[in-house]
Amino acid sequence: MKPIESFTIDHTKLYPGLYASRKDRYGDTTLTTFDLRMKKPNVEPVLGTDSVHALEHLGATYLRNHPDYASRIVYFGPMGCRTGFYLILEGNLESRDIVPLIIELFEFMAGYEQEIPGASEVECGNFRDMNLEDAKKEANDYLQLLKSIPEDRLHYPQ
Ligand SMILES: [Zn+2]
Repeated sequence: MKPIESFTIDHTKLYPGLYASRKDRYGDTTLTTFDLRMKKPNVEPVLGTDSVHALEHLGATYLRNHPDYASRIVYFGPMGCRTGFYLILEGNLESRDIVPLIIELFEFMAGYEQEIPGASEVECGNFRDMNLEDAKKEANDYLQLLKSIPEDRLHYPQ
C-alpha cells in the first residue's frame, strides 16, 4: 500500500504550527485539511486523553455554530498521536486564511467556564474522560503561538 501523504512529512522537522495538510477534490468542491499541531512530535509530552477529548467537544461545538464557517466545517477531531487536531474545511484555503478563525476558536476554548457540551452518558461514548482545566491550559499554550505565528509555522517543512 502507498503511504498516505501525512506520513510522508518528516515529523522530526515538524514544530507546533498551523499547516494546510492536503486538498481533496470532490466534483466541483475542494476540501482543505488543516493540521493544527499543538505539540512537537516525539519531543513534547502529548495531550492527555482527557484534555484532547474536552477540546474535541468544545472545538466541534464552537466551529459548527460559527456564524461564517458553520456550513463549511466538514470535520474537527484529534490526531491519534495526540499532538494536535485535524480540521477539514470546504474550500481551497491556505493556513494564513484561517489564522483568525483558529485564534477565535482557541480563545473560546482557553476561556471556557461552563459545562462541556455533550459530556453526558447519553451523548458521548466516554464522558468521564474530560479535563476542562488541563484543556484550557493546552488551548492557551497554542493560542500564544497563533497570536504571532511565524511564516515557517504555516507551511510544512520541505
Ligand atoms: Zn465524547
